[in-house]
Amino acid sequence: MPDFECQVSQDGEQQVALMAQDSARADALEVAARQALSTVHGRQREAAASRYKVSRYDIPVRLADGAALLFNSRTRSLILLSDGEAQIYRELAERSAFSGGQVSDRLLLEALVGGGHVVGAMVDEIAVVRDSYEATRGAKGSLTLTIAPTMACNFACGYCFQGLNKPTTKMKPDVQNAIVDFVKAKKDLKSLSVVWYGGEPLMGKDSIFRLSDLLISYCDKHKIAYSAGIVSNAWFLNGEMAAQLYTRRVRWVQVTVDGDRGTHDKMRPLTSGHGTFDRILDNIAEALDQTAISINARVNVGQSNVDNVDAMLDCFVERNFTRRGNFSVYFAPIEASTPESGSAYEERLSRAEFNRKVLALEERARRLGFASIQAPSNGFAGMCVAASHGGYVVSGEGVVHKCWETAHDPSKRTGSIFEPDKLHASVNASLWSQWTPFDNPVCASCKILPMCGGFCAHRFIYSNPAEAALPCPSWKWNTAEYIFSRAKDLGVVSADKWVPEEATVEAKQSGERHSLDTLQAAQARVLDKVSVLHGRQIDSAMLFAGEPALEAVPSHAPTEADRALQSTEP
Ligand code: SF4
Ligand code: SF4
Repeated sequence: MPDFECQVSQDGEQQVALMAQDSARADALEVAARQALSTVHGRQREAAASRYKVSRYDIPVRLADGAALLFNSRTRSLILLSDGEAQIYRELAERSAFSGGQVSDRLLLEALVGGGHVVGAMVDEIAVVRDSYEATRGAKGSLTLTIAPTMACNFACGYCFQGLNKPTTKMKPDVQNAIVDFVKAKKDLKSLSVVWYGGEPLMGKDSIFRLSDLLISYCDKHKIAYSAGIVSNAWFLNGEMAAQLYTRRVRWVQVTVDGDRGTHDKMRPLTSGHGTFDRILDNIAEALDQTAISINARVNVGQSNVDNVDAMLDCFVERNFTRRGNFSVYFAPIEASTPESGSAYEERLSRAEFNRKVLALEERARRLGFASIQAPSNGFAGMCVAASHGGYVVSGEGVVHKCWETAHDPSKRTGSIFEPDKLHASVNASLWSQWTPFDNPVCASCKILPMCGGFCAHRFIYSNPAEAALPCPSWKWNTAEYIFSRAKDLGVVSADKWVPEEATVEAKQSGERHSLDTLQAAQARVLDKVSVLHGRQIDSAMLFAGEPALEAVPSHAPTEADRALQSTEP
């Protein structure tokens, strides 16, 4: 620190000059000066002696010219290190701890500390992330409701998690009223977030309209922030429907489009077998033209459509979707997440294959203005309705679940909207509350844990070797590519600086990925915790058998007390 030392030395010289003018006080002043210098030098030594370590959430990406990008998943800081700085950083990263005085480049140290790339040696970063995760998970004052006005659907997608045999019932007014009462009973509510879900929720549009009106009016009166979105197949989402929804504060729609016309119509036909592609695109165009609603097209990518996705993007371009309004695209793998997932078993690509292919698709979508996919999430991507303690999924019959993927299966319910006091009492409810990503070593050591948070609790709790739906998201598989792409978008690096050996699928910069074995171990951990909590052994067979097995009171051999009781009976 040459500048700081120089300044202290000048101060010391001035004090010595003053001492010479008053010989009577010379000794005392000299002692005082020595003390002052010793204090200042002590502070200096303290700063130089401060112990640091490289953050466990740092992810460096080497560049072709020897420089490097450095991303921190906890702070989301992204910086560019020159060749020399990258070398210093690598040396620091090899040490378990180092003192400030050991870093000759003070500006570099300040930049590293400022971005959270270097932290105090005693900082327990996992504890910091865990605290943040638990605080978000248990946030008081916010309620997230996913409401399925019906599980009925007019589409017959072969890979649907509900299977093809869907119920046709719709939500009755008593269920709607119970939902409103449930919201009203929440004390100190600050925000209510609603997602309309199904089946196809617009087949139960009357429930959406009535419930929205009741909830919005209550929230407005009590200054509770209200927001809503909908997951819809868009068959009924014409301009008028979009306007009806928008006036009820539905601000975003997630619509699934699976490739170009031919592929999509094969994958997502009506139950009658007719195609749906043209009408969906007509409706999207109308909705964008007539409202400010934001439409996010989800593209499920599998064996049959992976080579036709480009053609679908061309259709979006032809229709000027980006110019018409707020339209974006994202890609998701087709996966067999439930036993009812039908053709998903044949359709799915391996995660490595999906994540290799998705990079090119995302790149093209971004160039066309349909996506900004590489931006890291703001909070924990896995903080869904199921993970959040204040989140519930309510079916048309008033059955309450935690997770979208179990909503079609009553045996996995956590309770009933008519018995709000018991919503956390069931074994099914405990399975969700007891799961945490910090319990399994793969997530706990993951370099993107602060962004991901386990991603999908369902895949751990209901892990089944036959279904093979793994949780790690694309960010885990394409970490270096996304960091590089983001830096490229920011104009910090050019495309020719990419080092092919940095490809994440093999280089694994963000750590180990989950496998079926690690998921099974995580499931066993949840079952152990729930067994302790409920005072009886709960195993995976009971888990999959659902509520009847989980809630059955275990029979036991008659005790002395039982026998004594029997002997007194007439
Ligand atoms: S646990 Fe997974 S499937 Fe269930 S709601 Fe959350 S993200 Fe969706
Ligand atoms: S190991 Fe996978 S699921 Fe767990 S936090 Fe990391 S990316 Fe998410």
